[in-house]
Amino acid sequence: MDNLCNSSVIRDLFERHHFQFSKTLGQNFLINPSVCPRIAEDGIRSPDYGVIEIGTGIGVLTNELAKRAKKVVAIEIDDRLLPILQETLAEYNNVKIINADVMKVDLKKLIGEEFPGMEVCVCANLPYYITSPIIMTLLEQRLPIRSITVMVQKEAAVRLCAQPGSRECGAVTFAVRYYSEPKQLFPVSRGSFLPAPNVDSAVIRLEIKNREEAPYAHEAFLFSLVKAAFSQRRKTLANPVSGALGIPKAKIVEALSQTGLKPSARAEEITFEQWLSFAENLWRLKEN
Ligand code: SAM
Repeated sequence: MDNLCNSSVIRDLFERHHFQFSKTLGQNFLINPSVCPRIAEDGIRSPDYGVIEIGTGIGVLTNELAKRAKKVVAIEIDDRLLPILQETLAEYNNVKIINADVMKVDLKKLIGEEFPGMEVCVCANLPYYITSPIIMTLLEQRLPIRSITVMVQKEAAVRLCAQPGSRECGAVTFAVRYYSEPKQLFPVSRGSFLPAPNVDSAVIRLEIKNREEAPYAHEAFLFSLVKAAFSQRRKTLANPVSGALGIPKAKIVEALSQTGLKPSARAEEITFEQWLSFAENLWRLKEN
């Protein structure tokens, strides 16, 4: 069904299916007809692609994905949307809806079973209440996916795509750079949604790095170091890191110095390469 951005079509669907928006599930559906085709075009590199969508709503983006990809597997938590989707996606035989919480789905297994031998990408207008947990889950599991093209809140887009070492960055920024090459694609105004949220949005794309491009021996240590340092992002990192990791402050200061950083260094001042070398230096010192 093509006219899912039309307000009278949406109203008719909602009335017939007795549907009301759930605020807690982050249900702000896209009604700007130019946005979904752009997300689909930017995410799907070839008609042979398999696509995972997270959060279908009434299927407005799912339609555009189904037109351009070989297969779409869409995960939607709200079972009240299932009869609506049956109607709005009736013309496609390459769409499978999974009624589940994406955080509880074994995505590696799903990709193996649903997309054998296919290139896979993720495209979605994400529910904003769990944007970072979803993105972190997708990245940390090292899923065999090529890219993640998603709509997120504007402020989240800035943080996710920031350069480590800049004021906008956070622990999630480092993780995004570690696993992918992020890029902000285009802004989307709040008026593009029904109901309109009180924030603007943006579409970003994370190109997943090859495994070989992101090797690091002490990965768990690196991530707990970054997380501890960003727990008090505007303060000197030596204290929170010492407290969280149980490493004497003197060793942290020494590792900072070996990395060419001041003892008063703050998490938001450290570049991507400096994080890798700081973690390596600190690992060596803490072992001795
Ligand atoms: N793709 C649709 C669109 O663009 O209009 C809907 C986007 S809406 C921002 C987010 C969707 O994610 C909603 O349909 C909501 O029910 C669904 N959702 C929320 N939490 C979810 C979860 N944990 N797992 C799967 N879907 C979820």
